[in-house]
Amino acid sequence: MAKYAFYPGCSLETGGIEYGMSSHAVAEALGIEFLEVPDWNCCGASSAHMTDHLLSLALPARVLALAETLPVNEMVAPCAACHQRFAAVEYELQNEDLRRKVNSLLERPYTGKVRLRSYLDVFANPATLEEIRKKVKRSLKGLKVACYYGCLFVKPPKLVNFVDDPENPQAMDNIMRVLGAEPLPWPYKTECCGASLGMTREDACTKLCNDILKIAKDSGADCIVAACPLCQQNLDMRQITVEKKYGTQYRMPIPFFTQLIGLALGLDPKVLGFKKLFVDPVMVLRKVGAA
Ligand code: SF4
Repeated sequence: MAKYAFYPGCSLETGGIEYGMSSHAVAEALGIEFLEVPDWNCCGASSAHMTDHLLSLALPARVLALAETLPVNEMVAPCAACHQRFAAVEYELQNEDLRRKVNSLLERPYTGKVRLRSYLDVFANPATLEEIRKKVKRSLKGLKVACYYGCLFVKPPKLVNFVDDPENPQAMDNIMRVLGAEPLPWPYKTECCGASLGMTREDACTKLCNDILKIAKDSGADCIVAACPLCQQNLDMRQITVEKKYGTQYRMPIPFFTQLIGLALGLDPKVLGFKKLFVDPVMVLRKVGAA
């Protein structure tokens, strides 16, 4: 059984609760074990790296150090923003001097023993894909999806340590194919949705969301599949503002990729948190015979 340290971050227990619900349900169905990091703290993605460099490294380094108390070799962070902060720590703390400085702030030193694994890769690696294929009970045939990776999971390649094409990633597309869905070729897979500008530059953020929603719709997508709670929330909740400003009507459901895996495995949509989505996903559920 694959076993990973699991870092939920703030989002998976708040705005992205359905990502957490579906992640745990799907992991259980696939025999993957997620062990929550004990006494984890915020990774600091939202502000620490803009205010204090050492703090921005110490926050995620503390989490990785605590993950070392678990019987695992790898840790996952389903939130792309968190993932990138942990990736930054792994990259920057190769520098011995910096590692000493950061460790002087921690009760338990970071040693690098537990490595960060991309959350997408947990499901998109060949062995898990095969396991999913064997367990599909409700094919998503007929569902056209635009896989949206956002800008943090796959870029910059030397930092995130994710073996995929940073401009045209395939991990989520491969998962969708195994589920029976049709991943569309579309050009905005890794365009930034501006989630971090949501408060300070709402105008810019609204435009970025509109661009992504428009291209997905023009490409024929039934839904945009997300892999990050910040992107998902941005594209899902901001649609009313976008539609008002641009005089359009997208009504585009934004499910998490783990919710779609769960649907295909035959799990109850309630367990997967479909009701928590802002734009009603009923059209998606109907299309695959789950509503
Ligand atoms: S990404 Fe943001 S919300 Fe998620 S744990 Fe890190 S700081 Fe908190």
